[in-house]
Amino acid sequence: MFDLISRDKEYIANTYNRFPIEIVRGCGSKVCDVNGKEYIDMGSGIGVTAFGFNDTLWCQAVSEQISLVQHTSNLYYTKPCVELAELLCKKSGMKKVFFSNSGAEANECAIKVARKYAADKKGSGCYKIITLENSFHGRTITTLSATGQEHYHELFNPLTDGFIHTPANNLEAFEKTVNENKDEIAAVMIECIQGEGGVIPLEKSFVEGVDRIAKENDILVIVDEVQTGNGRTGKLYAYMNYDIKPDIVSTAKGLGGGLPIGAALLGEKTQSVLGFGDHGSTYGGNPVCCAAALTVINRLTDELLAEVMLKSEYIFSELANADGVESVSGMGLMIGIKTAKPASDIVKAAMEKGVLCLTAKNKVRLLPALNIPLGDLKTAIEIIKECCK
Ligand SMILES: *Cc1c(COP(=O)(O)O)cnc(C)c1O
Repeated sequence: MFDLISRDKEYIANTYNRFPIEIVRGCGSKVCDVNGKEYIDMGSGIGVTAFGFNDTLWCQAVSEQISLVQHTSNLYYTKPCVELAELLCKKSGMKKVFFSNSGAEANECAIKVARKYAADKKGSGCYKIITLENSFHGRTITTLSATGQEHYHELFNPLTDGFIHTPANNLEAFEKTVNENKDEIAAVMIECIQGEGGVIPLEKSFVEGVDRIAKENDILVIVDEVQTGNGRTGKLYAYMNYDIKPDIVSTAKGLGGGLPIGAALLGEKTQSVLGFGDHGSTYGGNPVCCAAALTVINRLTDELLAEVMLKSEYIFSELANADGVESVSGMGLMIGIKTAKPASDIVKAAMEKGVLCLTAKNKVRLLPALNIPLGDLKTAIEIIKECCK
């Protein structure tokens, strides 16, 4: 382990402050480190392993597809890619899908589509995108520019032009921004729950107001569902908790259940914006990733989503009045806990007691597998409560 840490330090770029644990395998919602210590995983690799580890359906689909063909490029057809696109459209009501490999790339596609839509319709001066303060949309230069958090920007100027940040849950500010830049605004992009920003759900009246004002002005509505999507909030997509109709939905994280895949879902207005050669991705729609994602999306039935909500209610009710817990936020199995002690201390203490949690800003963040066994969930919540005291 010490050898691994020092080799990591020597050979891996210095961007990650890892915990001193070497994870060697997982099963269900438990992972095991190199010393044989077991942990209940309440983070899912940041909302990625939607059905846990060593999941039979997922493993079978992936290994079957790997032994058939692992990659073809987009010069040829493969079935998993088409099947997944069809399934996503049928379940969401969106019309077409562009596949990529990550959340940032899904957002890049959304931004390109929005710019082309607006340029075609309103001229090349119409390219600006409103995003929210405290948002997070990715790490590429453009998605960083979209991200409404100054501290991510500082070292990487010049940023991509054309993003305006307005405060979340402030409809007047949004409307004012729209009115002041009327002919220049192509789209608005929101996360229904600001994930990295601290698990902060947007208010219903704000989200629905944004959608209404956008529609009145032919401004596209992009919902970034990279973290909130694919069953995480108890609906297929978090926007389905609101009465809105997005023009573009971007998603990734949980979609592949642990293999890299991103998707931009395009609605009625945007489905035909991209033409041949306008966008592309060598790996995009990779058949192994799509076969994996099919096992995730196919399992997001009403029963499974109802179970997500039951577990969510259990977590909220256990934590709401627990000692050392100031507030609990989120939806479904995307939960933020404001604690009296620093969140990082709680995460460290829980880890020692065999529970892996995340942080988001000053909160403890939980993103367990959607099918986490109730027994594991109860044990983990008891330990987290103990650590909050
Ligand atoms: C994680 C995340 C991203 C970036 O996804 P990557 O796969 O890391 O590129 C974008 N938007 C949101 C809301 C996220 O949570």
